[in-house]
Amino acid sequence: MLTEAAAEMLDWHGSGMSVMEMSHRGKEFTSIIGQAEADLRELLAVPSDYRILFMQGGALAENAIVPMNLLGNRHEADYVVTGAWSIKSQKEARKYCSVNIAASSEADGFRAIPPQDTWRLSKNPAYVHICTNETIHGVEYFWTPDLKSAGLPDTPLVADVSSHILSRPMDVSKFDVMYGGAQKNIGPAGLTLVIVREALLGRALPVCPSAFDWKTVAEAHSMYNTPPTYAIYIAGLVFRWIKGQGGLAAIEQRNKAKAETLYRCLDESDFYRTQVAPACRSRMNVPFFLADERLNEPFLDGARERGLLQLKGHKLVGGMRASIYNAMPLAGVQALVDYLREFERSHG
Ligand code: PMP
Repeated sequence: MLTEAAAEMLDWHGSGMSVMEMSHRGKEFTSIIGQAEADLRELLAVPSDYRILFMQGGALAENAIVPMNLLGNRHEADYVVTGAWSIKSQKEARKYCSVNIAASSEADGFRAIPPQDTWRLSKNPAYVHICTNETIHGVEYFWTPDLKSAGLPDTPLVADVSSHILSRPMDVSKFDVMYGGAQKNIGPAGLTLVIVREALLGRALPVCPSAFDWKTVAEAHSMYNTPPTYAIYIAGLVFRWIKGQGGLAAIEQRNKAKAETLYRCLDESDFYRTQVAPACRSRMNVPFFLADERLNEPFLDGARERGLLQLKGHKLVGGMRASIYNAMPLAGVQALVDYLREFERSHG
């Protein structure tokens, strides 16, 4: 896919232009964004009453854009806190409304997702926000909250899906808003994806910048302001690549095999440990620790020598973290597993 992008970088499909040089309103780029949107809609089976928006500002900007678009005349929103990213989301929302933390796994060190029957939802929140894959803590939802059964049938469910969207099929109709930065499974940083139920458009607070008003962006087909054209083009190639792999069901099988291979290796040994409860272990981000943390640096040095890169854990958690997004093949995970065993043999 990157080879294809490289080959057409200077001249896209004989147009005599790089995608970077095209007017975003010209027929070439209009066809690129149209195809990208159609392919994404097909991949995720996005229902026809949802809009797909290509935006900017990353997931962190959406932390402000979500309340600005959904509060309407309400003053409270509910957040479920399961790791560093949902902490950030609720903190930003506090600039715009009062926040009820319906549940938090912080006291438990973010090792598990609080079951829905323990959530203390407020009576009439503007929305309920979750982060379905906590990139830093390695915690993933494998179930979807059901606000109807919680007595909130009209309350929008909002999910930050940044770090696991397109890793498996997801039932979009069970959410009202999904958003994420593109830089994990979609494409280059600089592009933000929002999938929003159409009925929710048009509620933005007057203070909401026009470029961040989902209705304005939807009406302009993601071209209210100049979109990140090259990032959208690359995302379109990624969508096509996923389709060529057999779609999200096939991608899920690969991701399952990768995650199982890695967690099995970590579980088999006392030399390494993991903290997240098995039912919530992320298939994308695998934090793990060496039982003897004095070996962290030698471990990372040896890994680097073998081309196993970016394994140092996030500073909030420490230890190691293997991020095994869609682009990582099973062979890459196998190489890590071989190294984990080898390092244990030589240092255990
Ligand atoms: N949410 C999640 C789950 C993330 O993984 C990240 C980035 N790693 C963010 C939010 C922040 O995204 P951005 O840097 O694109 O604003």
